[in-house]
Order: sequence, then structure tokens, then C-alpha cells
Amino acid sequence: MNWLILLSNSLMKRCLACGVTFPSKSLCCPVCGVEPSNIDGFAAYAPDLAHSGGGFKASYFADLAQLEARHFWFQVRNQLIVWALKAYCPQFRSFLEIGCGTGYVLSGIAEAYPHVKLQGSEIFSAGLAFAAERQPTINFMQMDGRNIPFVDEFDAIGAFDVLEHIEEDEQVIVQMDKALKHNGVVLITLPQHPWMWSQTDSYAHHVRRYTAKELRGKVENAGFQILRITSFMSLLLPLMFLSRLRQRQSKAQYDPISELKISSWLNTIFKVVFNLERMIIRFGLSLLFGGSLLLVAKKI
Ligand SMILES: [Zn+2]
Repeated sequence: MNWLILLSNSLMKRCLACGVTFPSKSLCCPVCGVEPSNIDGFAAYAPDLAHSGGGFKASYFADLAQLEARHFWFQVRNQLIVWALKAYCPQFRSFLEIGCGTGYVLSGIAEAYPHVKLQGSEIFSAGLAFAAERQPTINFMQMDGRNIPFVDEFDAIGAFDVLEHIEEDEQVIVQMDKALKHNGVVLITLPQHPWMWSQTDSYAHHVRRYTAKELRGKVENAGFQILRITSFMSLLLPLMFLSRLRQRQSKAQYDPISELKISSWLNTIFKVVFNLERMIIRFGLSLLFGGSLLLVAKKI
């Protein structure tokens, strides 16, 4: 009995082959002996999906890794995420990111919280090499968010612009709930307003853009209590809408990287505008319209 209590309080892994839970320090399932594969040096929990790439060209990750460090959107979204962690789970000691891509968000969190144990995960192994190079101290693994090999393990889990790529988004939210400790916090960002749908979404292999009501419903159905839901990219929404409208009319082949290449003065102006918006959110106002949504919820 005491052993069971001890076990339920410790950090746990879930064997994806037989379903038993076991202390997360061991890699190998004590019942069926299955352990994750190894892809390019990373533990791989969904190896069959590692090279599917989601339709992205391999060069996309290299281009993205270079651009995101300079682009206002990635910089300010990082600051928003770092602030949300401080505001809604100040005591967190462990964090899992689902769909960490090239590791840009994790590097921002690592800088702000150097003592937090960070775990990055990505279904496409191509992104992991960039992520590990950027942050050699963070632990990375290849994993499918629909099937997370942890139970009661993390204080906080984030999925930043990931759920819109996944048909079974509700399954991912349920899995995040299971992998969190009691009172653990989930942070989600994703694209908002179905009427903003454009070629950018198609190229990025989005399945949907969300309404706040839809996201709230899906997160509450998984058993979470919503702590905060707000739009962001609100002040720039009109510009974003005009740009997407132009895109719809244009017959030219869409280049997703060119959309990220903006002049440095425009980048600076947008950063100022976005920072202003971030201050409004920090002040406590939740915005109704915006290109993106931020949701923070607690496991109950
Ligand atoms: Zn097993």
C-alpha cells in the first residue's frame, strides 16, 4: 500500500505499448520491456511519424531558425509566454513543450527560468537538431502529442501554434491533462478567427483557425479550469487582414518564408505596437479580437 502511495506521488511515464505506468527515471517499460527508439540521438516515441515532415520541406526548419530570432512576432510571443508562466504558475519547476519546432520558445523560457527542468518534444525530427544545437542543456525527444508517454509528470505544458495542425486536437488536450501534475498549468497559443483563413493557413497545413468559444469548450471538456483567455495580435489585425486579402487575390505562388521577411524598420514598428498590446494584457484586459489566442488553464 505504502509502495503504491509512493509510486502515485512520483514522476511517472506511461508505456505506449502496454499502458502501464512506471517511474519516469527508467527508459524501459518494466512489464513489456519496450523502450523508445533512437532517431539521430533523440528518444523517439513515434518513430513512424518522425520523417513525415507534415508537408514541410526540410529547408523550412533551417530558414525558420534563422528568421524567428529577428522577427517581432516570435520575439514578442516569447515575452508573452514568459510573462504568462510567471503570472499563472510562478512556482513551476518542470515544463514540457509540445511541438517545439526549432526550440525558439524553449530558449526564451530557459533564459528567463534557468533552474526549470525543460523538456522539448517534436513529431518531426528535422526540427530537433536545430533545437538541440540552440539549447544543448535542454532535453529533447521525438513524440506525438496525441500519445504522450508521461503521467502526472510536469508542472506546466505548452503548445504554441501547434493544435491548429492536428485533426485530433481534443485528444492532445486530454493527453496534456494526463501528463500534468495536479494543479499543473497548460498554456496554448493558436490562430484565431476562421474568417481570417488564407493561403498562409493552407501552406502551414493548418486544419482550422479557432474561435475563443471553441478553444474554451475543448479545454474545459478535458477537465481544465480556464485561468485566462485573451486575443493577441489585436492592434495589427487590420493590417494582417489586408495582407491576407491581397494574398487571396494574388495568383503568385505563395512563399511562407517571404512573409516572414519584413524590413527592419517595419519590424521595429510592429514590435512597438505588439509590446503595447502585451502591456494591455498584463494590465488585466482580455482582448476580444486578434490574429491569435492565448489560453492559460489549470488541471483540476
Ligand atoms: Zn510496456
